[in-house]
Amino acid sequence: MPDTEPLLQEEIQKRRTFAIISHPDAGKTTLTEKLLLYGGAIHLAGSVKARKAQRHAVSDWMEIEKQRGISVTSSVLQFDYEGFRINILDTPGHQDFSEDTYRTLMAADCAVMLIDVAKGVEAQTIKLFKVCKQRGIPIFTFVNKLDRVGKNPFELMEEIEKVLGIRSYPMNWPVGIHGEYQGVYNRRKAQIELFDTEGGHGQYIVPSTVGSVEDPSFAELLGEAVHQNLKSEIELLDLAGDDFDLAKVRRGELTPMFFGSAMTNFGVRPFLEEFLRLAPPPAPRRTDAGEIAPDDGRFSAFVFKIQANMNPAHRDRIAFARICSGKFVRGMEVYHLQTGKPLKLAQPQQFMAQDRAIIEEAYPGDIVGLFDPGVFGIGDTLCPMGDKFRFEDFPVFPPEQFARVQPKDSMRRKQFIKGITQLTQEGAVQLFRQPDYGVESFVVGVVGSLQFDVLQYRLQGEYGVDIYIQHLPYVMARWIAGKNTQSVNLSGDLLVLDRNEKPVALFRSEWSFQNTAQKHPELEFLVVPRRG
Ligand code: GDP
Repeated sequence: MPDTEPLLQEEIQKRRTFAIISHPDAGKTTLTEKLLLYGGAIHLAGSVKARKAQRHAVSDWMEIEKQRGISVTSSVLQFDYEGFRINILDTPGHQDFSEDTYRTLMAADCAVMLIDVAKGVEAQTIKLFKVCKQRGIPIFTFVNKLDRVGKNPFELMEEIEKVLGIRSYPMNWPVGIHGEYQGVYNRRKAQIELFDTEGGHGQYIVPSTVGSVEDPSFAELLGEAVHQNLKSEIELLDLAGDDFDLAKVRRGELTPMFFGSAMTNFGVRPFLEEFLRLAPPPAPRRTDAGEIAPDDGRFSAFVFKIQANMNPAHRDRIAFARICSGKFVRGMEVYHLQTGKPLKLAQPQQFMAQDRAIIEEAYPGDIVGLFDPGVFGIGDTLCPMGDKFRFEDFPVFPPEQFARVQPKDSMRRKQFIKGITQLTQEGAVQLFRQPDYGVESFVVGVVGSLQFDVLQYRLQGEYGVDIYIQHLPYVMARWIAGKNTQSVNLSGDLLVLDRNEKPVALFRSEWSFQNTAQKHPELEFLVVPRRG
């Protein structure tokens, strides 16, 4: 039922919804802030960080976040720029990232991979990249901190290909002397843009000089040798590099690459403008009843994140839903597939992710925070009344750290089980059971160790249960499939059952896993459980 309402089409074509993926300290907060600055959403850089601090002041919903000064859960920043409506999904950037970071990528239509010019491709970038690659979404690369000495741009292109297995196409190229770059060369326009980064610390939009690469005044400005060198590098790129191919970009097979410095603002606007030109508007999403196009008149969305206890006085939760099709109108009634019940979509009073308190209407690509009376789970589908389709299951992300948890006070066993079961449904941790252990002891698996702290804090705060956490030495989980899974000989490793009673082996090392897999050619060891 395609909707021909021109307004809906227009709104969809305006939307750009993306996440920035990077390793901690690559400059994600700084770049986000500069995008807001150039987008006109803020007038003085520094306010995103200030906003973070302020958020702590107005809402103390999660002590851990305050204590550590980090963002435990992700939210979204929305602003308008040159006719576009931009949604930046904020992924937790701390070392202790969690499944939330991965799940947020499910809501994005493309990703910006931010790389520190000196450090190149780092561990967390690789993990996040893989999730994006699996989804086949476009990935844009921004090489940051060009105001400093770092790796050679050609070397970085090679590293990206070797480590991540994706070819890159530099959209622009740094101009000037290595470590003291003054601007970027725009390949599409064959133009040089030099930035005046003297004075100020990047709080304001920086002035720049733009002109054709052939303009002799650049030879003067840059020096003959630098100008010549730039021209020969461009020639080399044109001759030896890949051709630009938008179809490949859209399939996530070629990454458009940009250079700049988020701190001094150089290269930020060129990036934003090209990025918006190339990034896709919301695309159709797969459901069990076929694809649903964003301009389908029927409203649909899925839940990708649940945030608990924003207001400790009310014990309420907020479910963040990504709109996939149709128009959201506050208070509308939809069908919640997982409970099989109609639901009125109410928005929470305090929607901290955006500075606006309540949204009246929203469109595909937008994120809405919904009041959750405790019915939503991660990956849930919201569809129109009378339609019963569901979005594809969310992938399970393999946990990498494990611990045995049990209540300190065995009298609180009931609350413990209730709490831990609920938190598992919410997706805060993955729960396993050891077949020969009692019911009050569980093994939990997480992607990042911060999730253990969140578990402990929430069980204590919401269910009044103090727990012991005993860290276990395992580093990877493999779901075992095959005929006689009980026969598996795990020697020093551990066999557990997941919440669907499927057998899972927890291994101490990659070596130990390889060894076991070799001994059991009749069994399959899967990174994620097989569906069904
Ligand atoms: P995040 O952890 O990825 O959010 O990184 P931040 O944005 O907090 O930046 C980490 C550090 O790198 C901070 O000290 C920033 O000031 C610094 N930084 C960010 N961008 C640049 C840049 O372009 N050049 C330089 N020299 N430093 C930068």
